[in-house]
Amino acid sequence: MALMAGKQGLIMGVANDRSLAWGIAKAVHAEGARLAFTYQGGALGKRVRPLAESVGSGFVVECDVADETSLDQLFTALAGQWERLDFVVHAIGATDPSALRGKYVDTTRANFLRTLDISCFSFTDLARRALPLMTAGGSLLTLTYAGSERVMPNYNVMGVAKAALEAAVRYIAAELGPKGIRVHAISPGPLATRAASGIPEFDELMDKAQSKAPSRSLVSIDDVGNATAFLALDGAKLITGSVLYIDGGYHIID
Ligand code: NAD
Repeated sequence: MALMAGKQGLIMGVANDRSLAWGIAKAVHAEGARLAFTYQGGALGKRVRPLAESVGSGFVVECDVADETSLDQLFTALAGQWERLDFVVHAIGATDPSALRGKYVDTTRANFLRTLDISCFSFTDLARRALPLMTAGGSLLTLTYAGSERVMPNYNVMGVAKAALEAAVRYIAAELGPKGIRVHAISPGPLATRAASGIPEFDELMDKAQSKAPSRSLVSIDDVGNATAFLALDGAKLITGSVLYIDGGYHIID
């Protein structure tokens, strides 16, 4: 039985078939959910459209979360096509690649603000924009990383943005809980995606995660997709405000 039949969700952050957002899209589609997708930048549209079609979706809209007009257009399009939204997946993060080298203290004001805008504020903004459409409750899901809690080599300002994102998850969960809306941050172990390719020495990070994790394995986008889909199910309706590690248990190891 499809556990998400009749549910409608917005998936933001697919860049290609290695994206975490794509792993999540496949998993919720397998449970019968109907999906809308966004992509950032015309070039990515060529990649995202065929992926969306492969899960039965023709609803593909360009959206830059740093651009108010672009967000307004997305939500006008959504409200025009769907009466109700049940879940949103926010798998978006960005910083100036130069900030992922050298020292955190050298982060510029401009890049600090832009990184926090795209990687953190955008989730709060989406929650506010999605709320009028989430008339039957649902879930808001974002992606974080353990660099929010521990100092990870080269993660720098992204770690600060993820810490703020996790705090935002708790505040949004507390405020929207009475409306039946649940909010979570998913914290996967390292995966070789387009975003991760900008982090120097990422291979070493993956080797360490694999050798130290209790599971002795790296996670895949499907592992992350399946666990995230679980959180979006009605059966998970009393779970909210959590940071869920999907990392083979790596976070418990010194
Ligand atoms: P990815 O490159 O496939 O996805 C990142 C997405 O962010 C892209 O689709 C990109 O277009 C989008 N994006 C960036 N700036 C944007 C903007 N202004 N407006 C709209 N979209 C924008 O990489 P990914 O690893 O799948 O990243 C997804 C999320 O997972 C990110 O939040 C990332 O920090 C998080 N994460 C990744 C890992 C990892 O090891 N890859 C681990 C933990 C958490």
